[in-house]
Amino acid sequence: MDGVIIVDHPLVQHKLTLLRDKTRSTKVFRELFNELGALLCYEATRDLPLEMVEVETPLAATQSRVLTGKQLVLAPVGRAGMGYLDGILKLIPTARVAHVGLYRDPRTLVAVEYFFKAPDHMADRLTLVLHPMLATGNSAVAAVDRLKESGAKILRIVCMLATPTAIEKIRAHHPDVSIYTAAVDDAITDDGYILPGLGDVGDRMYGTR
Ligand code: URA
Repeated sequence: MDGVIIVDHPLVQHKLTLLRDKTRSTKVFRELFNELGALLCYEATRDLPLEMVEVETPLAATQSRVLTGKQLVLAPVGRAGMGYLDGILKLIPTARVAHVGLYRDPRTLVAVEYFFKAPDHMADRLTLVLHPMLATGNSAVAAVDRLKESGAKILRIVCMLATPTAIEKIRAHHPDVSIYTAAVDDAITDDGYILPGLGDVGDRMYGTR
């Protein structure tokens, strides 16, 4: 699939299976979600630019590489996106955060915006869109639309699961945006849940059901 990177690292696949298990407690689900998010993010940032700097080890002066360029942006979408922000911030503590407040209307499955705030100079920064479950693709397309309106030009979506329907929709609207996912699941229920999926990740993460 063009523009879709399925991260098949054994740790990613193992943690995904643990997350699928409906008997996980809220606490463990949240921890695993953050760990899996960080592993996916590791892959999505593989080509970040580096520059050489001088550094002195306890034994000798040497040249070594550090990240360069503008800090990247993490853009969690809705409450489920917030659920893996911390795990990724542990990996990249200097990242900026753009809040994309969208929720999915449960009746129409259309994305509704309630809040949006992004850092400046979005055009010069890589933006990682944290949208865990790409089911219909509607809210991911809306999130990318909104981030592009704020100036973002280089975007990648980091999700736990995607469906073929969502991938097709996102690639049709935003062919420049690649998708990093742990797996692609086949189906969507009538009320918009991925099958077999993970269930309602917001509810599982925050203990609201
Ligand atoms: N949101 C969820 O929490 N789960 C899904 O399966 C789809 C969207």
